[in-house]
Amino acid sequence: MSRAELPPAAARLAEIRARIARAAKPAQRDPATVTLIAVSKTHPAAAIEPLLAAGQRDFGENRVQEAQAKWPALRDQWPDARLHLIGQLQSNKAAEAVALADAIHSIDRPSLVAALARAMDAQDKRPACFVQVNIGDEPQKGGCAIPALPALLAEARAADLPLAGLMCLPPAGIEPAPYFALLAKLARDSGLAGLSMGMSDDFETAVMLGATHVRIGSALFGARA
Ligand SMILES: *Cc1c(COP(=O)(O)O)cnc(C)c1O
Repeated sequence: MSRAELPPAAARLAEIRARIARAAKPAQRDPATVTLIAVSKTHPAAAIEPLLAAGQRDFGENRVQEAQAKWPALRDQWPDARLHLIGQLQSNKAAEAVALADAIHSIDRPSLVAALARAMDAQDKRPACFVQVNIGDEPQKGGCAIPALPALLAEARAADLPLAGLMCLPPAGIEPAPYFALLAKLARDSGLAGLSMGMSDDFETAVMLGATHVRIGSALFGARA
């Protein structure tokens, strides 16, 4: 769908919320326990404002620089908007990420844990942290390898990062359910409650399997350029 054909923001939001609620029901989950993150990467403030006006508060961005360019002005107007950084993060951007974000979903290596811990101590600000798991063991993807997860979580805990949960991007083009179920098991085994999983094409499956945070871009904003 091109932007010109999109229904109004409130209708798009209501549709996604209804789909989340429908998926939550057979899993006997309260849909209020699923945070909808509107992934606004590549979309200008003019496309984001209608969603804010319709009541959406959680947003996701991939790039620190893009988020810095868009969000300070939007937050002046909507101070209770929450920003989730969901893209691969370079350690040299850790301080900017901590300053900007309410949550960081892409923690995947010890050097980044150390850089974020330093930035959080220096700024006395502690965004919620999700460790990204390379759930399909794909070389081109970010995320911590499954066998390395316990050690990385131990480092994050030792560094006093506020660990909220695990995040994944399952392999493209195949049934995602086994990967979501595996992430849920890893989180359970690690004593973590948060599960950041599910995007426009698979969020209902993710909700059925326990997602607490779904990251939805194109289904809310239309296709990215
Ligand atoms: C872009 C992106 C999304 C949203 O993808 P859609 O398919 O547009 O919903 C979710 N998570 C991450 C990490 C992304 O980079």
